[in-house]
Formats: sequence, C-alpha cells, structure tokens
Amino acid sequence: PYEFQGKHVTVAGLGVSGVPAAKVLHGLGAIVTVVNDGADERARAQADELEALGITVRLGDGDTLPEGSELIVTAPGWKPDKPLFAAADRAGVPVWGDVELAWRLRGPDAAPWLAVTGTNGKTTTVQMLASILTAAGLRTAAVGNIGVSLLDAVLGEEPYDVLAVELSSYQLHWAPSLRAHSAAVLNLAPDHLDWHGSMEAYAADKGRIYEGNRVACVYNVADKATEDLVREADVEEGCRAIGFTLGTPAPSQLGVVEGILVDRAFVENRQKNAQELAEVADVNPPAPHNIANALAAAALARAFGVPAQAVRDGLRAFTPDAHRIAHVADVDGVAYVDDSKATNTHAAEASLAAYESIVWIAGGLAKGATFDELVAKSAPRLRGAVLIGADRELIREALARHAPEVPVVDLDRTDTGAMRAAVQEAHRLARTGDTVLLAPACASMDMFANYNKRGDAFADAVRELGSAEG
Ligand code: ADP
Repeated sequence: PYEFQGKHVTVAGLGVSGVPAAKVLHGLGAIVTVVNDGADERARAQADELEALGITVRLGDGDTLPEGSELIVTAPGWKPDKPLFAAADRAGVPVWGDVELAWRLRGPDAAPWLAVTGTNGKTTTVQMLASILTAAGLRTAAVGNIGVSLLDAVLGEEPYDVLAVELSSYQLHWAPSLRAHSAAVLNLAPDHLDWHGSMEAYAADKGRIYEGNRVACVYNVADKATEDLVREADVEEGCRAIGFTLGTPAPSQLGVVEGILVDRAFVENRQKNAQELAEVADVNPPAPHNIANALAAAALARAFGVPAQAVRDGLRAFTPDAHRIAHVADVDGVAYVDDSKATNTHAAEASLAAYESIVWIAGGLAKGATFDELVAKSAPRLRGAVLIGADRELIREALARHAPEVPVVDLDRTDTGAMRAAVQEAHRLARTGDTVLLAPACASMDMFANYNKRGDAFADAVRELGSAEG
C-alpha cells in the first residue's frame, strides 16, 4: 500500500471531491496543500474549514505546483491540458483522480467493483445493478454520481460484498491502476469532446474501464465502438466478452426474445442454452434504451454469480431517478414527460425514440454538439418543437434542414421564466394522444443551476397548466 505519512500531497480543486480527499489525506498523515482556481465565497468557506484542520489552501492559483509536491490528487473535471499537469509532468509527479485515490485506499479484503461507464445510462444502470444485487441478498451500494461517494464506500464503517460503481470518462482518465471485477461500457457517442480533445481520446478513456477485468467485459452489440474497446483491453486470463442486444442473443450474449430478457452467457441449467431473466414489462420505464440498461446491469450481476430470479426481483423493485423520462402529468389527453437529464444529443435521441407523436422542448448549452443526425432521425415523430436557451439557433437550423414541415416556436429567451412560456407554447401545439417531451439535448447551465432545476421548472409549469385547465 501507498505510504502517505509525511508525503507532500497537492489536492487540485476544492468542491465535492477535493474537500473530502484533502481531509482523508490529512488524516493519513500527509502534508496537504490544496490549490484552487477560483476564490469565490463558497471556495473561501471550504478553505476556512480545511485551514482550521491545518491544511494549506491556495485560492486563485490552481496552476502553480507547490514546492516539494510528491503526488497530485485532482478533481476529475480538471482538464489534462491545464498547466498544473504540464508542471507535474516535468517534475515527474504522478497525478491521481478521486477514483484512483479510493482504489488505492481499499483494504485487502475490500468489496470488488462492478463498474459502469458510457455516454448515457450510467446512473440508471448502476442503480438497477444495485437493486439486483440487493435482491440477491448481497450487501451493496450504488456508488458515484448519486448515492454514496466512492471514498465513503471504501473507508466507511459499512461492510459491502460488492459495489456498483458509476465512472465518468474524466474519472477513468485519472484512474490508471483501477481493476474492476467486471465492467460495462453502455454506449459511446460524442460528448465532452472539449475536455478530452478528440473522440479517440474520449473512447480511450472510457476503454480504461476494461483494463485488468477479471471475469467479464460487457459491451453493447449495437455499438461496435464498445466491442472494439473490449478487444483492445488487456484483461486477466479467462475474462470473457459478454454482449447485450435488444435482439435475439448469440451465445455469450444477453438479449430479448419475444418480450423476455434472456441470458445465453451465464446459463445455470446445463440442459438449457438460455436462461430467462425477466419480462420487458418488468423494466421501468420499458423504453428501448432502458431495456438495454437493464440487460447491461443483468450481465454484470450474472457475472458476479447472481441467480436469474434476483434479476427479475431487482428490476421490479427499481424506480428511476427524477428527471429521467419521468411522467409528470396528463393535461387534456396530452402526456407531459420530463427528461431534463437528456443533456446531450445521444440521450435525447433515445428518449425521442420512445414516443410516437411529440411536441419537443429543447435547447440550452450545446457543448459543441451538432443536431443534424438527431433531428433527421426524430423528424417523423415530431408534431412540433419549442426552443429555448443559448444555443437554440443550432437546433432551429437543423429542424429547417431536416424537418421543414414541423412547426417551430423559437422563444428567443434564456431567462428562467422561459420554461413556463415553453410549456404553454407546447400545450398549444399538442393534440390529444401526443407527448410533450422535455429532452433538451443540451446542458442547462445557461438558464438553470443544473438539470434538476430545469426539470423542476418544467414540472411546475405543467402543474400550473393542469390547474388552470382543471
Ligand atoms: P448518465 O448517468 O450516463 O448521465 P442517466 O442514467 O442519468 O445516465 O440517464 C441520462 C439520460 O440519458 C436519460 O434521461 C435518457 O435520456 C438517456 N439514456 C439513458 N440510458 C440511455 C441509453 N442506454 N442510451 C441512450 N440514452 C440513454
């Protein structure tokens, strides 16, 4: 194990990962200096808290490597091209992320990790997986973005048999020695390219999740890039590639046959060549992309030795988190659905594919994305579109190119109140049987603090509509 006693460790970035990391390292006897770009009120409050413990904090100076640093532990969001890392490189100082730190701090008998990454569906899949593992009687937690933090899971009092771990591409970038029991890459679509620099670099970071896997590398049969990553990975002997598909599964795959989720990879009964796991109707909501998430979760659980019955029980017990294809209300025979978490085009494409006749509310920060493919694929399902947010122009142009007959209301607003107006416009465009779908395909920060607030604003506006009508 790494010896922290007396080591000079630099923690790069305060915030959700930096503050707990600094405390843990300080507790292990390291001499900790935190460097942070910003110096706003929140940063000052966090700095005060850490300084009271005897930790040095340098605000407004995130790029100077402190004298004598032997290790950097960085917030996952810090970009690899920051001058701090060039300085570390020159000085031969290793850089770990929050995941690497947690991985290194695990005890010798620590719970193995079942890890999940992908452009979309990570949180949902990890929660489904934890639900399945729990149904199998295992002590587990969904760890990562939602629920328990990795450091708490690894260092806390709570004993676990296995952890269901969500990992972002950023976290994987900074986690060189992570070795999962089994891992899944759900899908790969352009996202966060401004951070990674290129699609190749993004894919390579995602692919790190397979390195050193012991039992199974789970990939998406419909997304060849995920299978390529398995092929390129250096895994333990005997580790298997397991595909999941919405179609009929080949051997070594999980898939769907006549409305039943089946497993042809981990068959329990030797007489059979497939194991029935659950019905499509057991998946909540039973939208195609979500069935794919359920299959990936099932594959990881089965790789861990969980029986088929627990997959069914775990999926039935699962309810999705807020703002992920959440049905808000029916007003005048129109369903209003909040998928505020669809913050990129790939996610929005999946949710638009789940409905037939849609009034689409979209827009926000595009993060460098283009909308042609999304709009071209979704055009036949669109009854209308209402656009809000900073980069709505890009979506309007794509609609003009690929869906010229679809009525578009361009609200030309980026204030918070615009959501209310958008819902009212959508209400005017919708007909009985339609779905008004908030699937922005963009990040929310131009108008809202986060996607939760955006989804809440949508739901509030829908309820207001309902009470006005009622
Ligand atoms: P993540 O944690 O990767 O952001 P979530 O589970 O929170 O993923 O889902 C985010 C959004 O992505 C959902 O609201 C939905 O629009 C979309 N989504 C979920 N699963 C998939 C999938 N397998 N493929 C494509 N889009 C998906």
